[in-house]
Amino acid sequence: DLSIRLWHNHPSLWHAVLPLPGVEGHKYARGHAVVVSGPAHATGAARLAARAALRAGAGLVSMAAEEDAIPTLSAHLTAIMIKKADGSDGLAELIADTRLNAVVIGPGAGVGEATCERVMACLNSEAAVVLDADAVTSFKEHPARLFDAIAARSAPVFTTPHAGEFSRLFPDLAEDENKVEKTRRAAERAGAVVILKGADTVVAAPDGRAAISAHDAPWLATAGTGDVLAGMIAGLAAQRMPAFEAACAAVWMHADAARRFGPGLISEDLPEMLPAVWSELA
Ligand code: AMP
Ligand code: MG
Repeated sequence: DLSIRLWHNHPSLWHAVLPLPGVEGHKYARGHAVVVSGPAHATGAARLAARAALRAGAGLVSMAAEEDAIPTLSAHLTAIMIKKADGSDGLAELIADTRLNAVVIGPGAGVGEATCERVMACLNSEAAVVLDADAVTSFKEHPARLFDAIAARSAPVFTTPHAGEFSRLFPDLAEDENKVEKTRRAAERAGAVVILKGADTVVAAPDGRAAISAHDAPWLATAGTGDVLAGMIAGLAAQRMPAFEAACAAVWMHADAARRFGPGLISEDLPEMLPAVWSELA
């Protein structure tokens, strides 16, 4: 009976596995997240994700970038390291480092085959992978190619579509009016934790577990907030939080940050509100 595996997304669901730094800890123990930057003219979305991964508690965050994006990135980043990764081969080489715990790809990436190839490079690694935005849309013509690559790996995969992106990856499920059911079926098909966004974000795992949000935050409906969520998931996954719980915690904390900030929120405010969110949870 699947109904017994549906919860309201509330801290009681994931609080016990929330990663907290220990006295014996150090930055390497807190995990290393990598965000794949978009090209030189589209680095902002990846920067939002990277900042969010850091505020979610990853000990180290790196940005993987094409050479021509590096000057823009280095003018805007402080604690976040920049690593050159030209093309999917350069990215594959960088990601082969098994000390990397989580990767985000998609924000600002651009839609097309080049993005598909970079996603394949990410999936061919031992890191948890968060697929957002253009990393979802780029597989519109051949979603099975993505699902096959996910089936061939063992580390977790997360995907964070809004309704439009969901309909590109799962066109036959999009019409279902039951949001929990369609997210569950998508998670099972993709072999990934699917986070179907909106006011009532649903998180579903491939094993049938699902959680629905009731922590409403309408001020989230503004550009870039999805990129922040993708980075937060990677930040928690980098700390080895179990996948389903990491996705649920990120969704709740993201909305909680928005509620604390309130009117006038823009996406870059969200990572800066996370210390207040953590202080209530830690
Ligand atoms: P994206 O569409 O990728 O920019 O992501 C938007 C983010 O804002 C997601 O986390 C959504 O769940 C959230 N969001 C969008 N609209 C609303 C709304 N009306 N109420 C609450 N959250 C929303
Ligand atoms: Mg988005």
